[in-house]
Amino acid sequence: MASFLPYGKQWLNEADRTAVARVLGSDWLTTGPEVEAFERELAAFTGARYAVAVNSGTAALHAAYFAAGVGPGDEVLTSPITFAATANAARFLGAGVVFADVRPDTVNLDPEAAARAITPRTRAIVPVDFTGHPADMEEFRRLAGERGAVLISDACHSLGATYKGRRVGTLADLTVFSFHPVKGITTGEGGAVVTDNPDYYERLLAFRSHGIVREPEKMRENHGPWYHEMQFLGYNYRLTDIQCALGRSQLARFPEFLRRRREIAAIYRQELAGIPGLTLPTVVDEVEPAWHLFVLRLDRGIYDRRHLFETLRERGLGVQVHYLPVYWHPYYQDLGYKKGLCPAAEAYYEECLSIPLYPAMTGEDVEHVVTTLRRVFEEARR
Ligand SMILES: *Cc1c(COP(=O)(O)O)cnc(C)c1O
Repeated sequence: MASFLPYGKQWLNEADRTAVARVLGSDWLTTGPEVEAFERELAAFTGARYAVAVNSGTAALHAAYFAAGVGPGDEVLTSPITFAATANAARFLGAGVVFADVRPDTVNLDPEAAARAITPRTRAIVPVDFTGHPADMEEFRRLAGERGAVLISDACHSLGATYKGRRVGTLADLTVFSFHPVKGITTGEGGAVVTDNPDYYERLLAFRSHGIVREPEKMRENHGPWYHEMQFLGYNYRLTDIQCALGRSQLARFPEFLRRRREIAAIYRQELAGIPGLTLPTVVDEVEPAWHLFVLRLDRGIYDRRHLFETLRERGLGVQVHYLPVYWHPYYQDLGYKKGLCPAAEAYYEECLSIPLYPAMTGEDVEHVVTTLRRVFEEARR
């Protein structure tokens, strides 16, 4: 058994290492065949028509917002309970961020709060599938349609999750994934955007590579076979073939990762039920989460979270708190956001604790987490 169990981590095997080593001996380290193959396989897995691989989930958010036309004077509406990048990517493009509150049970963006916060300037609505549990996409689809906004899913936690029988990747206009080591699959750093829309697809491709266009029919001029044009200000957000080879190998293993995550979550839900003052994650009907995180909620009248956090860390459980409401970060406070803006999100932040959950955990590891939690919670109640 591992002596320290983090809240999440990657799982690499010999097949992954062989896939990477093969690319290192090939002619293409970047912009080669592994990138295209990874994109094809990711599109097939998610059920979307197109996938564009980029070098982080943050870059994927930036690219998706750009493709959606987000710019200065626009607003991006999102949840405060997410990694800061969901909001930051709007700021990269000079747009404002509007935070609407979360549902107290799933901690996903609340459709009613979102409807109240929407304005004529809302260019994109960005629900986050927090912990891998899909947000209320039917409601957001309707809201975006009524208000002429683009629906972008931050699915960095929810690769492989389903909502009403449909896989994440087919539920929004643009869907964003991250391949950071703690996420569903990893490429070291990496991310992707999937979409069914050919215009968004073209913009994503150009944005990833400096805004450069090479197709003769799309260029303003053409001086000869060498000619290409930079038509807007893009970035170098390309993912290497080395990384895409790892991504392909990980994606092939992903059904097993997902199965194991769900199995561990089921064990936790059974074995941690009934501990006084502890609330386990809500799963709504017709949703199959991907279980990126397993978050406990503590009754603050019974437990001191900081004490629990420190005790569990001392005993080798890498518990974590996900997340500080984004607008509490000094950068956002300096922009004028005030504490109190989203009461459900703030209440959640005070009582949440993520426990270890990742597919490489052994049965012994899982058992150890359960017994340690039971013991520490009991001691903490005395
Ligand atoms: C991880 C994550 C991101 C950013 O992805 P990176 O690959 O780390 O840049 C964005 N949003 C959410 C919800 C995430 O969990």
